[in-house]
Amino acid sequence: MKLIILDRDGVINKESRAYIKSPSEWHPIPGSLEAIGKLTSAGYTICVATNQSGVGRRYFSEQGLYDIHERMLNEISKHGGKIFKIYYCPHLPTDMCDCRKPAPGMFAQIAKDLELEFVDNKFDQSMQVIFVGDSKCDVELGLNTGCKFYLTAGFNSDGQDTLNKLSQQQIQAITQCTDLQEVVAKVLA
Ligand SMILES: [Mg+2]
Ligand SMILES: [Zn+2]
Repeated sequence: MKLIILDRDGVINKESRAYIKSPSEWHPIPGSLEAIGKLTSAGYTICVATNQSGVGRRYFSEQGLYDIHERMLNEISKHGGKIFKIYYCPHLPTDMCDCRKPAPGMFAQIAKDLELEFVDNKFDQSMQVIFVGDSKCDVELGLNTGCKFYLTAGFNSDGQDTLNKLSQQQIQAITQCTDLQEVVAKVLA
């Protein structure tokens, strides 16, 4: 199996500091939907793993999140893309849950659902699981769980801030890209 895991905000759609609270506030990053279509055509299983503390903060309900994701999946399918499942953490940082990135809970669940090895919170290294994200928590989780990590750092300010927060060791371990379009071009090259 070829598995790729995508962060949502800053990878598929534009980040918003005001949170994305409704389908009308969800705006895809140019080229991201087409890129997901290409991954699907190339036979990748695609999962989304996203921290959505806006649920815990009561900025939007879980139903509101489903509505946003329904719109997103609909837009992705128009470009021939298919998402296996969207995993999200609805908790607050202070909840100390095991699913808020960089905690490995969502990846453990992905491994369970796809019947993959996840010994000591690491994917089977022969699989080369790919993770694409734009935040420090994504980098930490990706490297801790043995993923090949791509940082989408060119599109939004969050991505640019992320680089400044990383250690030299982390920067050397990741691949920097402008956006998901560039990631997919590299992955499929
Ligand atoms: Mg993000
Ligand atoms: Zn959580």
